[in-house]
Parts: sequence; structure tokens; C-alpha cells
Amino acid sequence: MRRVSRPRVIRCAACAGRIKPQHPHIGVEDLEEGVEFSYHARSGCQIRCAEETATRLEAGKVYAMHHYHSSTCPDEAPGFGCAGGCFDTPMAVAN
Ligand SMILES: [Zn+2]
Ligand SMILES: [Zn+2]
Repeated sequence: MRRVSRPRVIRCAACAGRIKPQHPHIGVEDLEEGVEFSYHARSGCQIRCAEETATRLEAGKVYAMHHYHSSTCPDEAPGFGCAGGCFDTPMAVAN
């Protein structure tokens, strides 16, 4: 039996930099194709994330957003503005 091992290297779709899994990041999951785009939590990459997701939505895609918090985030049910300060608050993306 062949076992496929996938190295779990996540790259930011905005800046192509590597995202450490224990660091906060955003995942945008394409529900039709089962692929997920990842973005850094910092505001520049978040804005790119919002813009690119809006473009894909206009093309009729269906997405689910996931917010992955830092492994050290103290919030039990974390969201934006969590106690861990995982995500920069993006200025231009208020909806
Ligand atoms: Zn990035
Ligand atoms: Zn957090």
C-alpha cells in the first residue's frame, strides 16, 4: 500500500512567504475544489486576501473562511480581536 506523505508547508497566497502552522493565519477554502488558500494574519496580506476572495466570489466560487489562531492564543473561542492579538485589524475591509 502506498502512503502519500504531504509536507505541511503553507505559503501565503499574497506574499508567497512561508506561514508557520503554529502562527496565526487565514484560510480561504474553495468548497467546490477542496483547496485552501492561506494568508498571513498581518494586515497587508489580509487586504490581499479580501480582494482576491472578492474577485473569486464574483466568478461564482463558494468559499469558507477559516481563522487559524496562534498555538499560544489564550482565547477558548477565539475570533477577531482575540486576547492573543493574532490578527491585525484590516482597515479597508469592514464588512
Ligand atoms: Zn503574506
Ligand atoms: Zn487568537
